[in-house]
Amino acid sequence: MIFNNINNIPAVKDFEILYGGQLCKDYPELVNLDIRIYTDQQGDGQIKYWDDSNDSPYTSNHLFNEIMRSEEAYNKCNFTIEEEFAILAHELGHIVAGKRGEKSVDNLQEEMNADKMAASLGLACHMQVAIQKMIDAKLKPSNNAEMRQRIDAL
Ligand SMILES: [Zn+2]
Repeated sequence: MIFNNINNIPAVKDFEILYGGQLCKDYPELVNLDIRIYTDQQGDGQIKYWDDSNDSPYTSNHLFNEIMRSEEAYNKCNFTIEEEFAILAHELGHIVAGKRGEKSVDNLQEEMNADKMAASLGLACHMQVAIQKMIDAKLKPSNNAEMRQRIDAL
C-alpha cells in the first residue's frame, strides 16, 4: 500500500509509517493499492466528492482508490492526529469493503464495519471522539442518531 499524499497531509505520512505494515498484513486487498489522498483546496473539481450529505470531512471512493478531505468541514472539527488516524483507517475500511464486494445496502452497518478497521489498530476510543466531534460540528445533523449508535458500538 502506497499513499500518494498529494497535499502532504501530515497525518497521512505518519499513518503510513505507523500502520501501513499492519494493515497490509491484516487486509491483503490493500497490499498493491496506490491510494491517492488529497484535499479539496487544489481546485480542478475535486470537491465533487464531498457535499452536504456527508457527515465526515473525509470520504473515499473504492473504484478510484481515492480518499478526499474537505478542508472546510475538517477545519470545523479540530481533530487530534490520532483521531485523524482513526478516520483514515475508517476510510480504508470502506475501500476494503468495496474491493471485497461487501458494500452494504445498510449504511449504518457499513459505517460500523468501517469503524472496525480503526478499532483493529487500537484506535477505537479515538474514533469515538472523532465521531463526537463531527456531531458537534453539525456536519450532517440528520445523521446524529446513527453516529451515536456507532460510538456505542465501538
Ligand atoms: Zn464512513
